[in-house]
Amino acid sequence: MRQEFLPFSRPTIDDDEINEVVDSLRSGWITTGPKVKRFEDAFAAYVHAPFAVPLSSATAGLHLTLLALGITEGDEIITTPMTFASTLSIPVLCGARPVLVDIEPGTLNIDAARIREKITPATRAIIPVHFAGQACDMDPILALAGEFGLTVIEDAAHAAGTEYKGKRIGSLESVSIFSFHPNKNLTTGEGGMVCTPDESLAEEVSLLKFHGMSREAWKRFAASGTPNYDIMMPGFKYNMMDIQAAIGIHQLPKLDGFIARRTEIAEFYNREFADVPELALPSYAPYDQRHTWHLYTPLVRIEQLTIDRDRFMEELKKLNIGTGLHYKAIHHHAWYRENMPQPAGSLPHADYASDRILSLPLFPTMSDEDARDVVEAVKDVIARHRK
Ligand SMILES: *Cc1c(COP(=O)(O)O)cnc(C)c1O
Repeated sequence: MRQEFLPFSRPTIDDDEINEVVDSLRSGWITTGPKVKRFEDAFAAYVHAPFAVPLSSATAGLHLTLLALGITEGDEIITTPMTFASTLSIPVLCGARPVLVDIEPGTLNIDAARIREKITPATRAIIPVHFAGQACDMDPILALAGEFGLTVIEDAAHAAGTEYKGKRIGSLESVSIFSFHPNKNLTTGEGGMVCTPDESLAEEVSLLKFHGMSREAWKRFAASGTPNYDIMMPGFKYNMMDIQAAIGIHQLPKLDGFIARRTEIAEFYNREFADVPELALPSYAPYDQRHTWHLYTPLVRIEQLTIDRDRFMEELKKLNIGTGLHYKAIHHHAWYRENMPQPAGSLPHADYASDRILSLPLFPTMSDEDARDVVEAVKDVIARHRK
């Protein structure tokens, strides 16, 4: 058994990021400033987004996007149950009703073929989540949006660098929202980015993010700015700081390398677990795409074992292997059970995955030996709990 605990995720931070943050701290300009602009431009160029708005989080991005689109009481939003809290909590807090569509059993992405039957006159938007960094089937989703006049809001929290049929997520006819939380493939500590080809939407999100002040208001204490400013509308306080962007500026050039290493480890797991019938392994979607392997999420076939998934995770922890849970399906959480109960059996693939899924350690600085330790521990737990 390994001596040291292996977490399921750890950010990759080098001297470049540290020195850039120190430079910001020493410069006297800590909050939104020139480094945020540099990061915005570099990220927009990387994902081929015509417009990008840097923010304090992806959750803030979802909030401002829904407000900018005027989504409100009585509106319906179609999304997936295999996602993080904010994908649904923000629509709920805006007064909208989230409508859940089941996932595909292999990729755990929203089943695009099941969306049409959930569209009603109240539907305003579809929020696909690129689960674990693998692109949803965007062509049918964008076609439905066109047919019914809906907005596609991609929850791209896992998808920095993900491609769909040769196009980067961030460059499609939609709004896409990225997260730079420390567990994500690229981090700024906390942070997010809204990307879109819709200039007026980007402008609205940009105004809403900082007190409704115009884009250049952050300069008002700099030599190039003026202390005067105008409030164009009531706004929030969701701006990204230069301290955060300082990290992102140095993460971005390394992102392709991070993805390559993540892919190596994920494919090693796939090979090593290929002959383990107690695991259902993540599978690749059939269309051309680039999977960025934000997460490695096998399903544990608990019906073949004497323990459930939670015990499985505890057993791995005893062997010093950390795990994550992405995700217990959203409709299994207390508030949603109480306030948005789903008819029994209406989301069978999400229900199945929810009770069986776990996230194994996957981050770029993991060694080959770390990955071998994970495989050994997983096989050991299975061997000791086979029915
Ligand atoms: C992390 C995450 C978010 C929220 O991102 P924050 O930047 O933490 O607000 C939203 N959706 C999904 C799918 C996520 O994984």
